[in-house]
Amino acid sequence: MAFLQGCPWRCNYCHNYSILDPHLKGQVSFPSVIKHLEKRYGLLDGLVFSGGEPTMQTNLSLAIQTIKNMEFAVGLHTGGAYPANLKKTLPLIDWIGFDIKAPPNLYQAITQNLSAWDNAKKSIDMVLQSNVDVQFRTTIDPTVMSKTDITFLQEWVKTLGINNLVLQEVRNMGVNPEYKIKLEAIKQPQ
Ligand code: SF4
Repeated sequence: MAFLQGCPWRCNYCHNYSILDPHLKGQVSFPSVIKHLEKRYGLLDGLVFSGGEPTMQTNLSLAIQTIKNMEFAVGLHTGGAYPANLKKTLPLIDWIGFDIKAPPNLYQAITQNLSAWDNAKKSIDMVLQSNVDVQFRTTIDPTVMSKTDITFLQEWVKTLGINNLVLQEVRNMGVNPEYKIKLEAIKQPQ
Protein backbone atom coordinates (compact mmCIF):
# COMPACT_ATOMS: atom_id res chain seq x y z
CA MET A 1 0.00 0.00 0.00
CA ALA A 2 1.30 3.44 -0.91
CA PHE A 3 -0.13 6.35 1.12
CA LEU A 4 -0.22 9.48 -1.03
CA GLN A 5 -0.26 12.72 0.90
CA GLY A 6 -2.84 15.45 0.44
CA CYS A 7 -6.61 15.54 0.71
CA PRO A 8 -9.08 18.43 0.29
CA TRP A 9 -11.45 16.90 2.84
CA ARG A 10 -11.19 16.72 6.61
CA CYS A 11 -13.28 13.77 7.67
CA ASN A 12 -13.81 13.70 11.40
CA TYR A 13 -12.55 10.13 11.72
CA CYS A 14 -9.55 10.35 9.35
CA HIS A 15 -6.78 7.98 10.44
CA ASN A 16 -4.20 9.71 8.29
CA TYR A 17 -4.71 13.33 9.21
CA SER A 18 -0.94 13.77 9.59
CA ILE A 19 -0.53 13.40 5.80
CA LEU A 20 -3.49 15.51 4.62
CA ASP A 21 -1.37 18.58 3.87
CA PRO A 22 -0.15 18.19 0.24
CA HIS A 23 2.76 20.57 0.89
CA LEU A 24 4.48 18.44 3.52
CA LYS A 25 7.80 16.93 2.55
CA GLY A 26 7.20 13.37 1.35
CA GLN A 27 8.85 10.46 3.13
CA VAL A 28 9.22 7.90 0.34
CA SER A 29 10.09 8.80 -3.24
CA PHE A 30 8.36 7.18 -6.20
CA PRO A 31 11.67 5.77 -7.57
CA SER A 32 12.22 4.03 -4.23
CA VAL A 33 8.74 2.48 -4.50
CA ILE A 34 9.73 1.15 -7.93
CA LYS A 35 12.98 -0.26 -6.56
CA HIS A 36 11.07 -1.94 -3.75
CA LEU A 37 8.64 -3.53 -6.20
CA GLU A 38 11.48 -4.75 -8.41
CA LYS A 39 12.60 -6.89 -5.46
CA ARG A 40 9.10 -8.24 -4.88
CA TYR A 41 8.30 -10.01 -8.16
CA GLY A 42 6.58 -13.26 -7.28
CA LEU A 43 5.89 -12.07 -3.74
CA LEU A 44 3.43 -9.24 -4.36
CA ASP A 45 0.46 -9.25 -6.72
CA GLY A 46 0.06 -5.52 -6.84
CA LEU A 47 0.07 -2.11 -5.24
CA VAL A 48 -2.83 -0.15 -3.78
CA PHE A 49 -2.67 3.64 -3.93
CA SER A 50 -4.28 5.01 -0.80
CA GLY A 51 -4.08 8.27 1.05
CA GLY A 52 -4.91 10.96 1.73
CA GLU A 53 -6.83 11.26 -1.50
CA PRO A 54 -4.63 9.71 -4.23
CA THR A 55 -6.52 11.45 -7.04
CA MET A 56 -5.25 14.79 -5.72
CA GLN A 57 -1.93 13.87 -7.38
CA THR A 58 -1.96 15.14 -10.95
CA ASN A 59 0.54 12.46 -12.02
CA LEU A 60 -1.40 9.58 -10.51
CA SER A 61 -2.30 7.99 -13.85
CA LEU A 62 1.35 8.16 -14.93
CA ALA A 63 2.41 6.44 -11.70
CA ILE A 64 -0.27 3.77 -12.15
CA GLN A 65 0.78 3.15 -15.74
CA THR A 66 4.37 2.73 -14.60
CA ILE A 67 3.34 0.08 -12.06
CA LYS A 68 1.12 -1.64 -14.63
CA ASN A 69 4.03 -1.74 -17.09
CA MET A 70 5.88 -3.73 -14.41
CA GLU A 71 2.97 -6.21 -14.57
CA PHE A 72 1.71 -5.56 -11.05
CA ALA A 73 -2.03 -5.11 -10.46
CA VAL A 74 -3.12 -1.72 -9.17
CA GLY A 75 -5.83 -0.85 -6.67
CA LEU A 76 -7.09 2.57 -5.65
CA HIS A 77 -8.71 3.91 -2.49
CA THR A 78 -10.71 7.06 -3.16
CA GLY A 79 -13.58 9.16 -1.96
CA GLY A 80 -13.98 10.67 -5.42
CA ALA A 81 -12.87 14.22 -4.63
CA TYR A 82 -11.31 14.72 -8.07
CA PRO A 83 -13.58 13.20 -10.74
CA ALA A 84 -11.53 14.50 -13.68
CA ASN A 85 -8.38 12.82 -12.41
CA LEU A 86 -10.25 9.69 -11.38
CA LYS A 87 -11.53 9.43 -14.97
CA LYS A 88 -7.94 9.16 -16.23
CA THR A 89 -7.17 6.29 -13.85
CA LEU A 90 -10.29 4.17 -14.45
CA PRO A 91 -9.05 2.44 -17.62
CA LEU A 92 -5.80 1.53 -15.83
CA ILE A 93 -6.81 0.16 -12.44
CA ASP A 94 -7.92 -3.32 -11.44
CA TRP A 95 -9.92 -2.52 -8.30
CA ILE A 96 -11.35 0.45 -6.41
CA GLY A 97 -12.28 0.77 -2.78
CA PHE A 98 -14.69 3.72 -2.96
CA ASP A 99 -15.69 5.49 0.25
CA ILE A 100 -19.22 6.80 0.20
CA LYS A 101 -19.02 9.15 3.14
CA ALA A 102 -22.71 9.56 3.96
CA PRO A 103 -26.09 10.36 2.42
CA PRO A 104 -25.82 13.57 0.34
CA ASN A 105 -27.20 15.84 3.07
CA LEU A 106 -24.47 14.75 5.52
CA TYR A 107 -21.45 14.85 3.21
CA GLN A 108 -20.40 18.28 4.38
CA ALA A 109 -20.82 17.36 8.05
CA ILE A 110 -18.43 14.42 7.55
CA THR A 111 -15.89 15.98 5.19
CA GLN A 112 -16.01 19.66 6.27
CA ASN A 113 -16.03 20.47 2.54
CA LEU A 114 -18.81 22.29 0.68
CA SER A 115 -18.29 20.68 -2.73
CA ALA A 116 -17.59 17.16 -1.46
CA TRP A 117 -20.94 15.68 -2.45
CA ASP A 118 -20.96 17.23 -5.95
CA ASN A 119 -17.58 15.73 -6.72
CA ALA A 120 -18.32 12.41 -5.04
CA LYS A 121 -21.56 12.06 -7.04
CA LYS A 122 -19.73 12.64 -10.34
CA SER A 123 -17.14 10.04 -9.34
CA ILE A 124 -19.69 7.47 -8.17
CA ASP A 125 -21.57 7.77 -11.48
CA MET A 126 -18.31 7.37 -13.40
CA VAL A 127 -17.26 4.29 -11.44
CA LEU A 128 -20.70 2.70 -11.87
CA GLN A 129 -20.51 3.26 -15.62
CA SER A 130 -17.05 1.72 -15.84
CA ASN A 131 -16.19 -1.97 -15.78
CA VAL A 132 -13.79 -1.69 -12.88
CA ASP A 133 -14.19 -4.04 -9.93
CA VAL A 134 -15.37 -1.91 -7.01
CA GLN A 135 -16.19 -2.17 -3.35
CA PHE A 136 -18.34 0.69 -2.07
CA ARG A 137 -18.05 1.18 1.67
CA THR A 138 -19.04 3.65 4.34
CA THR A 139 -17.35 4.28 7.65
CA ILE A 140 -20.12 5.12 10.07
CA ASP A 141 -19.33 8.27 12.02
CA PRO A 142 -21.52 8.00 15.14
CA THR A 143 -20.94 11.68 15.94
CA VAL A 144 -22.81 12.61 12.73
CA MET A 145 -24.96 9.68 11.60
CA SER A 146 -27.96 8.34 13.49
CA LYS A 147 -29.46 4.87 13.03
CA THR A 148 -32.10 6.49 10.83
CA ASP A 149 -29.38 8.06 8.67
CA ILE A 150 -27.72 4.64 8.28
CA THR A 151 -30.98 3.00 7.24
CA PHE A 152 -31.61 5.83 4.79
CA LEU A 153 -28.07 5.49 3.40
CA GLN A 154 -28.49 1.75 2.80
CA GLU A 155 -31.75 2.29 0.90
CA TRP A 156 -30.53 5.37 -0.96
CA VAL A 157 -27.41 3.67 -2.39
CA LYS A 158 -29.66 0.99 -3.85
CA THR A 159 -31.35 3.71 -5.93
CA LEU A 160 -27.90 4.38 -7.42
CA GLY A 161 -27.51 0.70 -8.30
CA ILE A 162 -25.29 -0.20 -5.34
CA ASN A 163 -26.57 -3.35 -3.64
CA ASN A 164 -23.53 -4.37 -1.66
CA LEU A 165 -22.51 -1.36 0.44
CA VAL A 166 -20.07 -2.41 3.17
CA LEU A 167 -20.52 -0.63 6.50
CA GLN A 168 -17.38 -0.12 8.56
CA GLU A 169 -17.21 0.76 12.22
CA VAL A 170 -15.17 3.83 12.99
CA ARG A 171 -11.92 3.16 14.88
CA ASN A 172 -10.35 5.55 17.33
CA MET A 173 -6.75 4.59 16.50
CA GLY A 174 -4.85 7.40 14.77
CA VAL A 175 -7.74 9.88 14.79
CA ASN A 176 -7.27 13.43 16.00
CA PRO A 177 -7.42 13.76 19.81
CA GLU A 178 -10.59 15.91 19.86
CA TYR A 179 -12.51 13.39 17.82
CA LYS A 180 -11.24 10.55 20.00
CA ILE A 181 -12.73 12.27 23.04
CA LYS A 182 -16.07 12.69 21.23
CA LEU A 183 -16.09 9.00 20.29
CA GLU A 184 -15.32 7.88 23.82
CA ALA A 185 -18.12 10.11 25.14
CA ILE A 186 -20.57 8.40 22.77
CA LYS A 187 -19.39 4.94 23.78
CA GLN A 188 -19.58 5.73 27.51
CA PRO A 189 -22.57 8.04 27.99
CA GLN A 190 -22.68 9.73 31.40
S1 SF4 B 1 -11.21 11.51 2.44
FE1 SF4 B 1 -9.96 9.95 3.43
S2 SF4 B 1 -7.93 10.86 3.61
FE2 SF4 B 1 -9.34 12.54 3.18
S3 SF4 B 1 -9.87 13.34 5.20
FE3 SF4 B 1 -11.42 11.81 4.63
S4 SF4 B 1 -10.72 9.90 5.54
FE4 SF4 B 1 -8.96 11.31 5.50
